[in-house]
Amino acid sequence: KETMESFKYQADTAKLMELIINSIYSNKEIFLRELISNASDALQKIRFLSLLDASKLGSDTLDDLKIKIAFDSENRLITITDNGIGMTKNDLVNNIGRIAQSGSKQFLDKLHETGDLSGIIGQFGVGFYSVFLVSDSVTVISKHNDDPTQWIWRSDLKGVNETSYTISPDPRGNTLGRGTSIVLHISEDSELDPFLDQEELTDLVIKYSQFIDFPIYMYKYVWENVPIEKKPENDEKQPEKEPENEPVTDFEIEEDEPENLDQDEKIDEPETERIQMWKWVMMNPQKPIWIRNSKDISPDEYNSFFKMLSKKTEDPMTYIHFSAEGEAEFRSILYVPGSLPFGSVEQAMPHNNKIKLYVKRVFITDNFLDELLPTYLSFIMGVVDSDNLPLNLSREMLQKHRLLKLMKNKLTRKCLEMIRKIFQEDDDVKKSRFWSEFGTYIKGGIIEEKRPPFQNKLIDLVRFYSSKSEDKMVTLKEYAENMKEDQKAIYYIGGSRKEVVAQSPHIERLKEMDYEVLYLIDPIDEYCVLAIDKYNGTRFVDASKESLFASDEENKIIEELEEEYEDLISWFKMIILDKVDRVTISRRLKSSPCVISSKDYGVSANLERILKAQPL
Ligand code: ADP
Ligand code: MG
Repeated sequence: KETMESFKYQADTAKLMELIINSIYSNKEIFLRELISNASDALQKIRFLSLLDASKLGSDTLDDLKIKIAFDSENRLITITDNGIGMTKNDLVNNIGRIAQSGSKQFLDKLHETGDLSGIIGQFGVGFYSVFLVSDSVTVISKHNDDPTQWIWRSDLKGVNETSYTISPDPRGNTLGRGTSIVLHISEDSELDPFLDQEELTDLVIKYSQFIDFPIYMYKYVWENVPIEKKPENDEKQPEKEPENEPVTDFEIEEDEPENLDQDEKIDEPETERIQMWKWVMMNPQKPIWIRNSKDISPDEYNSFFKMLSKKTEDPMTYIHFSAEGEAEFRSILYVPGSLPFGSVEQAMPHNNKIKLYVKRVFITDNFLDELLPTYLSFIMGVVDSDNLPLNLSREMLQKHRLLKLMKNKLTRKCLEMIRKIFQEDDDVKKSRFWSEFGTYIKGGIIEEKRPPFQNKLIDLVRFYSSKSEDKMVTLKEYAENMKEDQKAIYYIGGSRKEVVAQSPHIERLKEMDYEVLYLIDPIDEYCVLAIDKYNGTRFVDASKESLFASDEENKIIEELEEEYEDLISWFKMIILDKVDRVTISRRLKSSPCVISSKDYGVSANLERILKAQPL
């Protein structure tokens, strides 16, 4: 016979809990966000499984999947129940009692770095532990299809041993059918009392329910008009009552106010009385945001949706909301984030979670980034909801589906449109922020993107500092407009820093001729101009290449000079020919006595430096 077992938290978990329990972070309400998001994840899992095998839902239909939130201020309890996938005993030990090793380590590092618990807790698989921001005792009751027993997991911080939890079979048997119920005992602390106040809790639940695709009900008292004869007898609390089929919404209740009723009609109405009663009230009657008409959605709503997707507190830089018609029908909201996820190019997190793919509003995967966007757009986040992808395909079949290719094309085009708009606006700060965060991606895109219509859009965005514009980057269009009448090429010089290339002897003569020279100081820049090859028919020329100014006339002068300085050249050759290919009269120098330069058909010195620095 199975009985109660005690478990110790792992060292890392215990450390994390201690940190959270003693945290001085003010934003304690995020526990609700994390629990609602876990319940929604669990519902998404069972909904997905049921697509391939409907029997997984038991007697439920897809419409029965929901989240229920109840509270009891007297006993300081908040209960969050879902009929999602549930947890087996093993799941409880592995997923609740333990944190994925890598997750907790990264989380603690990041917490030290930013001090922003609420902004990062959901990102490292430690969201559940936010319950300890507000509770001194937590009970998780769970029933999974694959485990005949309904289990009770319990962690009681009031006990002597703060670093253990227990798991026992539920003596009541299987009361949930399938799913999870999490009961929080809110710590005795007046600061936490608002979480037990109906109105305050309602506001919070609404705040964190908005973008969840499952109905969320809250058990609360409401004022209702009831016919006097049919007054219900028990108007007291019944937390286990099922939500009614027709959900009452706050909105509908307002409509019920009998304000402008016609006198004649009023006579026919039965006499009513206004009474207070407990009801399950739906908190998120809105359709998913991407289904709604963009005209009805405020920028604030778009920003909040982004924060929910990214689990960050930062606003996005911009977004686009559209629906695609034709062979591939889908709706999508795409965002350019405010910054790179971890401050630098994707070190900590893999590419997933960026784009959520839905089919007819059913969440399918957030692991299809490569199928939906080219690599150079992998910083974009958002949702895509297809109307005509088949629902019941295996992942492998879906991955190869022909419609995905069409969707990828359209999504790419829309991303580029959204980015182009940033550069059409008059917001210089935004432009330079975009470029400093994501410019490397765009330059990578010029190299990666082989389709001219897309590549050209990327080329339009690219910008560099130059000899005539050392503080503000110039686009190629601006460069072309600035070209001298006799100028035949777009000149560039590569190097590690602006200050260094600006002093380069290679560009002395170009500057004197009043030609603009682009400064390529990002390691990827030279690859990028090699990929562009020609801009509007004008080729790019490396200012450090030796035949920069070759013309018949010049060649003749050089020949004469070579004759004149023959002895000097032979002397140079004698002493350094093992280090260089050739010694010749320079065509470019003005004030510097000599320069070491690349051959016309070799890599430039700068590119050589970069290639050498690259791990093979
Ligand atoms: P994350 O959600 O990022 O995985 P959490 O700490 O929020 O991290 O949750 C840890 C794990 O606990 C989840 O991955 C899931 O396996 C399990 N879990 C939490 N809440 C539920 C729930 N309501 N139903 C089923 N499983 C859950
Ligand atoms: Mg979570």
